[in-house]
Amino acid sequence: MPALGPGSLQGGTDLEKHRDLLMVENERLRQEMRRCEAELQELRAKPAAPCTGCEHSQESAQLRDKLSQLQLEVAENKGMLSELNLEVQQKTDRLAEVELRLKDCLAEKAQEEERLSRRLRDSHETIASLRAQSPPVKYVIKTVEVESSKTTQALSESQARNQHLQEQVAMQRQVLKEMEQQLQSAHQLTAQLRAQIAMYEAELERAHGQMLEEMQSLEEDKNRAIEEAFARAQVEMKAVHENLAGVRTNLLTLQPALRTLTNDYNGLKRQVRGFPLLLQEALKSVKAEIGQAIEEVNGNNQELLRKYRRELQLRKKCHNELVRLKGNIRVIARVRPVTKEDGEGPEATNAVTFDPDDDSIIHLLHRGKPVSFELDKVFSPRASQQDVFQEVQALITSCIDGFNVCIFAYGQTGAGKTYTMEGTPENPGINQRALQLLFSEVQEKASDWEYTITVSAAEIYNEALRDLLGQEPQEKLEIRLCPDGSGQLYVPGLTEFRVQSVDDINKVFEFGHTNRTTEFTNLNEHSSRSHALLIVTVRGVDCSTGLRTTGKLNLVDLAGSERVGKSGAEGSRLREAQHINKSLSALGDVIAALRSRQGHVPFRNSKLTYLLQDSLSGDSKTLMVVQVSPVEKNTSETLYSLKFAERVRSVELGPGSRRAELGSWSSQEHLEWEPACQTPQPAARAHSAPGSGTTSRPGSIRRKLQPS
Ligand code: ADP
Ligand code: MG
Repeated sequence: MPALGPGSLQGGTDLEKHRDLLMVENERLRQEMRRCEAELQELRAKPAAPCTGCEHSQESAQLRDKLSQLQLEVAENKGMLSELNLEVQQKTDRLAEVELRLKDCLAEKAQEEERLSRRLRDSHETIASLRAQSPPVKYVIKTVEVESSKTTQALSESQARNQHLQEQVAMQRQVLKEMEQQLQSAHQLTAQLRAQIAMYEAELERAHGQMLEEMQSLEEDKNRAIEEAFARAQVEMKAVHENLAGVRTNLLTLQPALRTLTNDYNGLKRQVRGFPLLLQEALKSVKAEIGQAIEEVNGNNQELLRKYRRELQLRKKCHNELVRLKGNIRVIARVRPVTKEDGEGPEATNAVTFDPDDDSIIHLLHRGKPVSFELDKVFSPRASQQDVFQEVQALITSCIDGFNVCIFAYGQTGAGKTYTMEGTPENPGINQRALQLLFSEVQEKASDWEYTITVSAAEIYNEALRDLLGQEPQEKLEIRLCPDGSGQLYVPGLTEFRVQSVDDINKVFEFGHTNRTTEFTNLNEHSSRSHALLIVTVRGVDCSTGLRTTGKLNLVDLAGSERVGKSGAEGSRLREAQHINKSLSALGDVIAALRSRQGHVPFRNSKLTYLLQDSLSGDSKTLMVVQVSPVEKNTSETLYSLKFAERVRSVELGPGSRRAELGSWSSQEHLEWEPACQTPQPAARAHSAPGSGTTSRPGSIRRKLQPS
């Protein structure tokens, strides 16, 4: 049985003592560290001398970095130390506990052993006393034997327990040993840490020393720099002083100049004070001059305006005079060239010749006999579209001045009426050229006048008037008297397009052409049996006076004038021929009446003359272009056309002869008229319309559309 001596208990107290020692040591270290920190703090608090850019500052910064690193490490070690302390504390506590338990166990074991040995002793005594006794001894022995076995059993139990306790003690000792080892390593660690701390402190000390040194050297640098700066400042000061002396001498010389300048300034000031007055006077005189000049200019302007108006009137008068001299109604002939369509052979030979010295004479060889005619002008086949247009140009421009103009193309089918009026896309005729001319003229006058140009297109077929630009071209239009009692005529529903460019015109022509094509399958044939009218209206406002003018230009491609033999025509063809004949006769009548200045003009005899009434009467101007085919086979119709032309023209001869030559052109006569057998007729026709005075302006067109 192992004895539990005071030595084993001594182990616990040793440990405690050791621990206490460690704690004391730890406390001391802590205090030392606090002192170091305080010192460090103090050092840091000391103001560092301003030192920038010197080599020490870099070193110092490095040292400072190192110091802070060391401080970090110290803090870390402190943490580790406190952890170890805690561990030591815990282990010491556990050791004390284990020692206490061990003490208890040992005490218990001693008691048990004591009790058992006492009982054993008692038992031995009892056995001895019982052996000394005789007879009853046997029983006692037996009892004792029995009891002895029980005791033995108890003893072995005790021994087992003792064994167990001893094992436990050994175990506890083992634990104790381990703890001692741990304590040992903690001690070692503490020693290490202490060594480290010492090292850090040494480092700190060194850094501090370096820092002090640096500060010292910085202080020295600073002092040196101050001294240098002072010396430099002194030198500069000296220079400034010298400069100042120079400036002073300068100032002395400048003073007189300043005085003269001041005098000048004062003089100028006085002048400036007087300036507004001067300016006012100058302005007044200039204003007066300007006013006078404006008045003069105004006077001049008035004079110019007056002169301009007088000139305008004069121009109009001259124009009128010119037209009057030329005749309000003029007749020209245009001979087309021989074409492939004329064929070959004797029938296609040329039968027309001209007078090289007189461009108003045309000779025709008819059935071997030469016949000559005199018109206002004759155009040979060589004449271009432009040549012809040149001749009619003056008429067209008069439209802008508010005159009404009619240009007719007359002649047998195929003689060139459509060519003269419409022309070809490459070589346009009078229609397009007239509109172009109007545009450019209007443009030229745009600064003084505002013009609008509108166009309508219509056709008269079998005495029915149709709108070629309308939505329903088959609709028959009526010519009506204005309900306002003015006696003027108008066509309700006739479409009017405003045009501003050649593009617009082409669109309008295209539209009219399309309307005509869709309406009639054989357009060529149809167009030769109908009159095609292009009505251009030019409305102007004089911007300065507000004066308004309206001029109308009627461009008419008449139906073919060829005579249809009575026997050869029947049905619709005869009806067409009769209508054409009637309207052409009526046109001849009207022109004749106008040229002879008769009181009554039979406008109402046909739709054509009725529609054109306002453009034929008064100071309106009319031009008849008689188209002539030059070939042999057409000489009969050519002769007829030229006779018609000459007759229209000759109407204008002196009043006596005019009357003598005047004849009434009935529809029948248009077909069969021969100048040789013509008999004089009364001038007026009984059934003519009233209200056809020369000044009437009918035909205002109601509907106004813009070209799309
Ligand atoms: P109309 O309208 O009188 O029936 P057109 O104008 O249709 O006659 O002319 C008949 C043909 O003669 C067309 O082919 C046309 O091109 C041609 N023609 C007419 N006049 C001339 C001319 N001055 N120069 C060239 N060709 C012309
Ligand atoms: Mg034609």
